[in-house]
Formats: sequence, C-alpha cells, structure tokens
Amino acid sequence: MTVKVRFAPSPTGRIHVGNVRTALMNFLFAKSQGGQFVLRIDDTDLERSTKAYEDGIKADLEWLGLNWDETFNQSSRFDQYEAAKQRLIEAGLLYPCYETGDELERKRKLQRAQGKPPVYDRGALNLTDADRAKLEAEGRKPHWRFKLSGGRIAWDDLVRGPSRIETSSVSDPILVREDGSYLYTLPSVVDDIDAGITDIIRGEDHVTNSAAQIEIFEALGGRNAAPRMGHHPLLVGPDGGKLSKRLGALSIEGLREEEGIEPMAILSLLAKIGTSDSVEARDSLETLIAEFDLAKLSRNPARFDPAELTRLNARLLQATPFEAVADRLKAMGVDGDAAFWEAVRPNLERLSNAREWWRLVEGPVEPDVEDADYLAKAAELLPGGTLTADSWREWTGAIKAETGRKGRELFQPLRMALTGQRHGPEMDVLLSLMDRNKVEARLKGERA
Ligand code: GLU
Repeated sequence: MTVKVRFAPSPTGRIHVGNVRTALMNFLFAKSQGGQFVLRIDDTDLERSTKAYEDGIKADLEWLGLNWDETFNQSSRFDQYEAAKQRLIEAGLLYPCYETGDELERKRKLQRAQGKPPVYDRGALNLTDADRAKLEAEGRKPHWRFKLSGGRIAWDDLVRGPSRIETSSVSDPILVREDGSYLYTLPSVVDDIDAGITDIIRGEDHVTNSAAQIEIFEALGGRNAAPRMGHHPLLVGPDGGKLSKRLGALSIEGLREEEGIEPMAILSLLAKIGTSDSVEARDSLETLIAEFDLAKLSRNPARFDPAELTRLNARLLQATPFEAVADRLKAMGVDGDAAFWEAVRPNLERLSNAREWWRLVEGPVEPDVEDADYLAKAAELLPGGTLTADSWREWTGAIKAETGRKGRELFQPLRMALTGQRHGPEMDVLLSLMDRNKVEARLKGERA
C-alpha cells in the first residue's frame, strides 16, 4: 500500500518552527518511500480560522519546498462529520451530556481532593429519557462524548515503539460541543479514513488523543482501521527547557522576511536536531529525503537553538554560487558581480548582510576623520595598481614600517575613514572590492 500522510495545521495563525518540524517529518517519511503528502486545513473553527492564514501557511510551505500532492479543507466536509456523528450515536458510542463547565470543574476538584484521577464519571450515562427531557426544557443543550472501551489500547508507535494507554484513566472525549461545533478529534478520524491515510506522525502531545482516536477509527472503519501512529518528541529551547514563547513563535514568515534565513537552513536544522545525524546544512530536500529514517529520531526532546540556524545559514551562503543569488541580490539593490559575491559570502550570516557590504563598496560613505595627517601619509603608501586581497596586508605593513604605529592606532583610523564607522567588515575584503579613487577620496575625508 502506498504511504500517505498528512500535515493538518489550523489556519488560526501562521506556522512556526514546531509545526514545520512535524510537516517536514511527514513529508520526508512519505517521500523517502515514494508516498504522498496531503495538506489538510483544519478549519472547523469557523470563527478563528481565516483565509488569509490559510494562504499564508500555503505560501510558507511552498517557500520551503514542502509541496503537497493533495489538499482539502475540513470546512467543506461537515456533512461527512454529521454522518459519522449519527453512526456513533446509533452504535451507542456517542452520548449526550449536560454538565456545565462549572459543574465539571467541581467534580474534578472533588476527585482530586479524594486523591482520584480527574476522569469524567459518566454521570450522563445514567440519565433517563425523562431526565434529559427535563434538562432540555430548562434550556440546556447537550455536548457529546465518545464512550471509550475502558480497556487497554496498544499500538506499535513508529517512534516510541510498543505503546499502550489504559483508557480507564482517560475521560471520554467530547467530540461535539453544545453549539454543535466539532472538536478536532472526530473530523480528523473521518478525514483520515476517507483520504486513506496510512501513517499519522505528530507530536508527543497527541499520545492520549491517539488512544481515543484509535477507538474511533475502529468504531467507524472496523478493526485495524487505524493508521500506524508515530509521536515525535517536542522541541525544547537551547537550554533544554520548554521552548520559550519567543522561540516557539519563530514563524516561517518572520524567518523569511525579517531574518532573511534560507529555506534549506530551516529544513536542515529541523530535520536533524534530535536525531543521530550531524546537525549540518544540507543543500537540498532530496538529500534530506535520502537520509531520512524515523529510527534515527531520539526519544529525547530536540533542542532548537536560533544560533544554530544562523550558523547553518552562513554555511549555506558560503557554498552558494553567484548565479543562484544574482536575482535576489539585484532585488535588494546590490549590483555586485561574481567577484563581489565570492569575496563577501564567507562573511555573511544572511543574504541581506550583502547590502551593507555593497553600501561600503559603492558609497557614498561619510568618512570619519580625526587625524588627517596620518591618513594623508597612509594615502601615499597605498599599493599601486588594482587593489587585491593582499593589498590591505601590504598597505598596513608599509604604514607600520613608516609610522611605527601598530594595533588599534594603526588600523582604526583607516577603518573609520573608509567605512565611516568603528566596527564593520573585514578590511582586507573590503579594500579588495573598492575602487582606488574612492579609497583616496575617503582618506581625504571626502564623501565618496
Ligand atoms: N490540527 C491538529 C493540530 O494542529 C492536527 C493534529 C493531527 O496531526 O492530527 O494539532
């Protein structure tokens, strides 16, 4: 049977690094086995879901190259969910409950006080028709719970190995709210059955859901209807603690537009953290597909460190040929040629850093001049001919021999004249890219 997986974001926000890791794992799992990757838009929450978020999520996935073979929206499938709901009611597996949120909270408090787990007591199962009629006459509307078997559910988890959950320790899950809206649990199962999903790979936070969903799969689809399941450890921050709001909120949109991070840096990092492979940049999704194996995934949480993202990004840029970035550089207003690119790329953390280099090469720069005499002397000692990668060393060597200056005293005035700032790029690289007229002008304090 062909492998078919799905990534199922809710369009109530943009996707962030945590979601994308799940998407990527599904994508790599499918593609490494010649399988299919489905994008399911979980938009049953009609109030919080927006088309703009949906479009944004699709744009983010496309930018990353995580192209889907099929996509659909849950909001187009309410009839199927309603039919499944009726089937479960008829089978006696979905029952109406009338407790308010406050009443449920009181029950849980009492259970905790008695040292019992706060599992729903199934009080609603004892209601008679007359009780229900009375509650409805009071204006109460039911929410609907799925009746778990109370037995043990076991599955061979693709990541965690043999797994089991005692459903006696789990509350019967609510599938339909008072207002008739669906929680995610039932629609997800209905869709997975109809789409022929063979494997569900998602975060460890879904393990308990999975137990209930396996029973719902069997109730609707028969024995063994549940797909294989895999639950990956979640991301944590660089210190091993919970992924902070700030880091967890690193959206793909932000990494692309504000941080200027390359897709392969994000994909390489998310594919490799928490695995036995080295966390280094890979040049293509094909490489990640070829290297993918769920067995490499550690059972420990994966550490996500933005500093590593920057490191991988820099590595990728260093290996990027001019032709691959020429258009993007142009679009940023950087008109440099291949020689410019090759000189600056070892010094970039992100592509947008090239802009600053270009500004310093091309000008105009307002020189910062304190000691005009020193700079005049330096100008006389500038090596003749075209400036090259060796010019800086030759030049400063000559200045040192002539003036006896060294260290900061020698270098800093040159930097401040040529760049107008105290800190900045490697001067040997910058000088090799500059036109000597501009160098001479800036040494004289002229804006050039
Ligand atoms: N929309 C669900 C979520 O984002 C999907 C979970 C699943 O993969 O089943 O949590």
